[in-house]
Amino acid sequence: MGSRILVVEDNEDSRIMLVKALKRLGHVTLEAESGEEAVEKARSETPDLILMDVELKGMDGLTATRRIKENASLQDIPIVALTAYAMAGDRERALRAGCDGYLAKPVDVRNLGAEISRYLDGHPVSESKRGQ
Ligand code: MN
Repeated sequence: MGSRILVVEDNEDSRIMLVKALKRLGHVTLEAESGEEAVEKARSETPDLILMDVELKGMDGLTATRRIKENASLQDIPIVALTAYAMAGDRERALRAGCDGYLAKPVDVRNLGAEISRYLDGHPVSESKRGQ
């Protein structure tokens, strides 16, 4: 059963790659190029999951995440940060901002289905599964 997934990514090539992979997995995609647009679409479309690029022009992805998570009717939407830097500090910042998880860029689309199913199933990511 497909889910509605909001892809927030300002790089067009990366966005197209993610959207294609998600559609191939049977999901319905929504797209945003900026943090402002992400907040707006989260409110108007209430997607099942948000993939949030951290580095965006204007409002960055972590600020957009905070805005979405401070809205009581949206706070249960899982948000997975996409960050170019596979560094512990960035992961901590993403989680502190309210992200539910983290994917390092470039995203390996072969693992995308497995990665996001954890969040769509509502199961928290266990520490033992992280980084495998
Ligand atoms: Mn970016």
